[in-house]
Amino acid sequence: MTPQRRKILALFEDLGSGIHLSAEDVHDKLLNLDVRISLATIYRTLRLLVDMGFLNELELSEGGHRFELLSLDKPDHHHLICIRCGRTEEFESEVVIKVGRSAAEDLGFKLLESTLNVRAICPACK
Ligand SMILES: [Zn+2]
Ligand SMILES: [Zn+2]
Repeated sequence: MTPQRRKILALFEDLGSGIHLSAEDVHDKLLNLDVRISLATIYRTLRLLVDMGFLNELELSEGGHRFELLSLDKPDHHHLICIRCGRTEEFESEVVIKVGRSAAEDLGFKLLESTLNVRAICPACK
């Protein structure tokens, strides 16, 4: 891994799971740490870390993306995402996991994860 990739991944690891950052958030936080990496490189690196299985990517509304550390502690958590401001809250649901499991079983698939991302408008944006 290149030093830039390490720095970006370390930022997520320091913040822990349950934190959802945009590429701009990552850029700002790195600047606060005196780490200068261009936004274009951050975008590319985030995608790469998703492909490598370190991060999970959430799609918000048009073009909006948030990234979070993939955590083995809670692989099947779900998100309530405000499409206006990007506020992202996590929730857990046995029902969603059960439905995913039974759909996979019915069709002979091996279940890896079942996550639900709910797009909504938060109280502040309503
Ligand atoms: Zn999350
Ligand atoms: Zn909002």
